[in-house]
Amino acid sequence: EVRVRFAPSPTGNLHVGGARTALFNYLFARSKSGKFVLRIEDTDLERSTKESEDTLLRDLSWLGLEWDEGPGVGGEYGPYRQSERNSLYKQYAEKLLDLGHVYRCFCSNEELEKMKEIAKLKQLPPVYTGKWATATEDEVQGELAKGTPYTYRFRVPKEGKLKINDLIRGEVSWGLDTLGDFVIMRSNGQPVYNFCVTIDDATMAISHVIRAEEHLPNTLRQALIYEALGFPMPNFAHVSLILATDRSKLSKRHGATSVGQFREMGYLPQAMVNYLALLGWGDGTENEFFSLQQLVEKFSIDRVNKSGAVFDLTKLRWMNGQHLRSLPLEELIELLGDRWKTVGILTQAEGAFVQEAVELLKDGIDLITDADQALTNLLSYPLDVTLASPEGKTVLEDKLSEVASSLLAAYDNGELKVAVEGHAGWKNWVKGFGKLLKRKVSYNLLLPRKNLMFYKFHIMERGGGTLHVYKV
Ligand code: GLU
Repeated sequence: EVRVRFAPSPTGNLHVGGARTALFNYLFARSKSGKFVLRIEDTDLERSTKESEDTLLRDLSWLGLEWDEGPGVGGEYGPYRQSERNSLYKQYAEKLLDLGHVYRCFCSNEELEKMKEIAKLKQLPPVYTGKWATATEDEVQGELAKGTPYTYRFRVPKEGKLKINDLIRGEVSWGLDTLGDFVIMRSNGQPVYNFCVTIDDATMAISHVIRAEEHLPNTLRQALIYEALGFPMPNFAHVSLILATDRSKLSKRHGATSVGQFREMGYLPQAMVNYLALLGWGDGTENEFFSLQQLVEKFSIDRVNKSGAVFDLTKLRWMNGQHLRSLPLEELIELLGDRWKTVGILTQAEGAFVQEAVELLKDGIDLITDADQALTNLLSYPLDVTLASPEGKTVLEDKLSEVASSLLAAYDNGELKVAVEGHAGWKNWVKGFGKLLKRKVSYNLLLPRKNLMFYKFHIMERGGGTLHVYKV
């Protein structure tokens, strides 16, 4: 059975890199009829917060990446927070001690520092050279009797190689001679991160570990622990880094990087998910437009690229526009109507008005939030009938003024038919108006002028889909 997990540390927001890892895990699980597990890695008690955990859960849900087991859902492999699994870690640490894969190390910090300095001077790798790797039982009992604090240190084989077959990167191998015996449990009894992850993945029966490339060095340590405990090794897949357009690692200095920020900026979850999937994956065709369901159908780990993927905000924005316009009109109307009410641009999102506004605006916006400005412009264009601002300045460029005056004149002398049916009617009306002006006025060309029409002629009173044009 395929079982994968997303294992965020609740120490910050859900970053686009983490979201992509979660997405690939989700897609892999769904495409293999497997399980997608969410595990909260809160061993770092000082940096972990409940608030961050809540944010992670909220953002994953917003993206539509529902987990089958984990916080809020439960499951038979719980608990799903590392902080609630301490007794399990202790139990396995003791087992490793009994098996001789782990020994108690009574070295003080000063001794360890000294070892490091010496290694540095001799230009040797920082491997543990203390006596406790080879101490006698008597020596150990002596320190225990004195109450000297100790850590649990993993005995790394001093030679040989460790190999894994990464599903994305192919064979990855490490020489063991430079690793050094590492600590799995601190002297205060607190288990160390790599150890917890291994015990969790093994006891949660995780079949595939799909995570970011930066965890590769951890994989070495974790694989050694798997071997020592005789756990079957999971499959590993290390996904490449997400880069900024300057090809450096994407970070805060490049702008928004968290899912929450994108949501607030007006991105749709469908577009985020679609774009994140394309960071390192493609279905092998030109097609780039996918719903979450289509991604589940098409996803394959073999097609995940091992080179870094560039996060291109311009493309994400464009893609959001594509998704926005592909929403059923009723959904878009509801979305924008709610939005306008929430942000207070409209006091009451009156159905037919919202519909007209959405139909007029939708081609010109990429983000939900773009619609705020667009509608605000529409409703508050700083013009009065004389085409001047309250300060008396003419704020329209000449051509627009000309068009507006003609419109007004045409309206006043009755040349203009003022009732049009819906959006299509409006389009035709605009064209007809162009004829009247004896100039080519295509609908698109008039796009920026819609603002003007809206204000000048307050296209607001409707009945049964009829759009009337009024002079304000
Ligand atoms: N907790 C780790 C992180 O937040 C992930 C560990 C893993 O996937 O193995 O990066």
